Amino acid sequence: MIGAGHAGLAASRFLTDRSIDHAVLERGEIANSWRHERWDSLRLLTPNWQSRLPDHHYDGPDPDGYMTTSEVVDFIAEFARVAQAPVRTGTNVTSVAPAEDGYRLTTSGGDVWCRTLVIASGACNLPVVPLLRDAMPPSVAHFTPADYRNPGSLPPGGVLVVGASATGVQLAAEIHRSGRPVTLSVGEHVRLPRTYRGRDILWWMEASGVWDQRYDEIDDVTRARRLPSPQLVGTPERATLDLNALGGMGVALVGRLSAVREGRALFSGGLKNLFALADLKLARLLDTFDAWAVRHARDADVSEPERCEPTRAPQSSRLQMDLASGEIRSVVWATGFRPDYRWLHVPVLDEKGYLRHEGGVVDSPGVYALGLPVLRRRKSSFIHGAEDDARELIEHLAGYLAGV
Ligand SMILES: Cc1cc2nc3c(=O)[nH]c(=O)nc-3n(C[C@H](O)[C@H](O)[C@H](O)COP(=O)(O)OP(=O)(O)OC[C@H]3O[C@@H](n4cnc5c(N)ncnc54)[C@H](O)[C@@H]3O)c2cc1C
Repeated sequence: MIGAGHAGLAASRFLTDRSIDHAVLERGEIANSWRHERWDSLRLLTPNWQSRLPDHHYDGPDPDGYMTTSEVVDFIAEFARVAQAPVRTGTNVTSVAPAEDGYRLTTSGGDVWCRTLVIASGACNLPVVPLLRDAMPPSVAHFTPADYRNPGSLPPGGVLVVGASATGVQLAAEIHRSGRPVTLSVGEHVRLPRTYRGRDILWWMEASGVWDQRYDEIDDVTRARRLPSPQLVGTPERATLDLNALGGMGVALVGRLSAVREGRALFSGGLKNLFALADLKLARLLDTFDAWAVRHARDADVSEPERCEPTRAPQSSRLQMDLASGEIRSVVWATGFRPDYRWLHVPVLDEKGYLRHEGGVVDSPGVYALGLPVLRRRKSSFIHGAEDDARELIEHLAGYLAGV
């Protein structure tokens, strides 16, 4: 097993249940990404009641709250302790290659041979930054969610945040509150209110079965796997952080960053269409929830159906910005993440560098993956999504070992 995040630890728990001898190799510490790769103010956007792993769940006084990163670390570390996971921390896997009847791993702690391998090394190892970063003038400082910690890490002055998914909207709001003028460049996005009909929106996702939808029931699973994360934040106030909220605060909204020419950032037009599309998809999702509530006689448990106000397009949005003028001092690239498989020397990557797999069964005998977006279900990359996927994949792995 590579990786002692929640996904690898969930799989380890099921291996232990089946008395399958294994080791969890972790380059850092347990829950390493939550310890070292997140910004200071981050809280889960999933509510506490949804933080659950096999036989381990949140049981504190605030089920509707949202964990801070240090609370997430404690939650995962406690799971590892109770499950007595055989974790070898400080063990970096630098190469995995096919070997006779299995795989050979080169690690900072020596070579390891295994018949089966579970890759639980994370989906968000590397921030994705478009090439047009390199065309920007040198006066602009660059940050990604991996190196941004708080607004104090930015130079004074204007900030361009590129990308309006969960990370982009959260950082735009926080940086704006620090007193810096913020421009947010918005491309395709997923709008969600924090609560709907009195319940957390993620309660609806779970109760209605949307989050349990399987990868082989989704029309275009490749697209589903690439969808941006929803515009959500976990705050004690359960506040909605959509583009109306950001615009209302004074964050300037512009279109997708399409090019940088002679020091000028060029933004796509058509914000109105982009907003209308996100609003339409949200309305369809809320229709699905309403229909589910009627079908399952849950209407009485929730308040009346409501609809969100359309996203307000700015009167006129800028189509370009002179990056050399001093108006923008830093750019925060909230343009997504990708996994890092530079150590993987088994021919299982597609032309874009993503693992070829069928619901986590990787395209090489005895190799499995966990924790990737929509791996087996829509919830796969979330903490509460690991249990079902890990149980099923470890069952498959046990069958493979038994020669079934
Ligand atoms: C900004 C952000 C916010 C998120 N918010 C939520 C949320 O609110 N709720 C939710 O449920 N999920 C959330 N997620 C998604 C998800 O829970 C995390 O991505 C989670 O960290 C994934 O768990 P994992 O076990 O798959 O991977 P990770 O936690 O990334 O664990 C992988 C582990 O593998 C180790 N590793 C990697 N490569 C090697 C190697 N070569 N050798 C040895 N060890 C290696 C890493 O050090 C790491 O410890 C969020 C993700 C991000 C990035």
